[in-house]
Amino acid sequence: MTPKYKRIVLKISGEALKGNGEDPHSPEILKDLARQLKEIHEIGVQICLVVGGGNIFRGLKGIDKGVDRTTGDYMGMLATVINGLAIMNALEAEGVQVRVQTAIPMEKVAEPFIVRKAIRHLEKGRIVIFVAGTGNPYFSTDTTASLRASEVQADCILKATKVDGIYDKDPMKFADAVKFDSISYIDALEKRLAVMDSTAFSMCMDNKIPIVVFDMNKPGNILRAVKGEKIGTTVS
Ligand code: UDP
Repeated sequence: MTPKYKRIVLKISGEALKGNGEDPHSPEILKDLARQLKEIHEIGVQICLVVGGGNIFRGLKGIDKGVDRTTGDYMGMLATVINGLAIMNALEAEGVQVRVQTAIPMEKVAEPFIVRKAIRHLEKGRIVIFVAGTGNPYFSTDTTASLRASEVQADCILKATKVDGIYDKDPMKFADAVKFDSISYIDALEKRLAVMDSTAFSMCMDNKIPIVVFDMNKPGNILRAVKGEKIGTTVS
């Protein structure tokens, strides 16, 4: 089986790791994610992960608690490091080789982000997890995914969410929400669809990186996405 996408950046939101309980990480979800990744790793797909931090901290939410935006954003970036290590651990338990690269240097915890080294890891069959976002406040991990995908010249970004694609309005709130099978970058931007921020969309548009938005909790969906099966919504 030849995958459609040979080098991918999978963006996982922090919330996707949470499950239904209070804990920031569900061991079952981590295990399931690791197994799904192992499956696509075994067919030769080169995998980069960009992980969010929303299950632990988001810069904008900190403002309500009296934390200024920049400090909150650094707290959010550190939250992504915790999530990246949790995923690393789950992947290693499945016998997959992993390297974590961080945009904020912390040499005891992870390698610094070096694009050539990241590509070398991919070529050697290692999964690379990018943490600490872009290393800059006022950005998001969606923008990190588009930046890293551009840097490593990935074939696509797979954006794993809890819903099965992009809708014209929030499907959790509106029963008549309509799903798009595909949409152009410009329409997604003009309609201000909340699935990714505009910086992330525009970077993908400028660098011609397709985005597939799909439901990660449906078993086998990551494999379907890399095979190029019609799941979720494709932005291109
Ligand atoms: N963040 C940041 N710069 C970046 C990436 C992330 O400041 O380049 C901060 C920001 O505060 C953000 C938090 O890290 O709210 C967690 O990332 P994000 O909200 O994108 O996580 P997700 O929603 O995907 O879980």
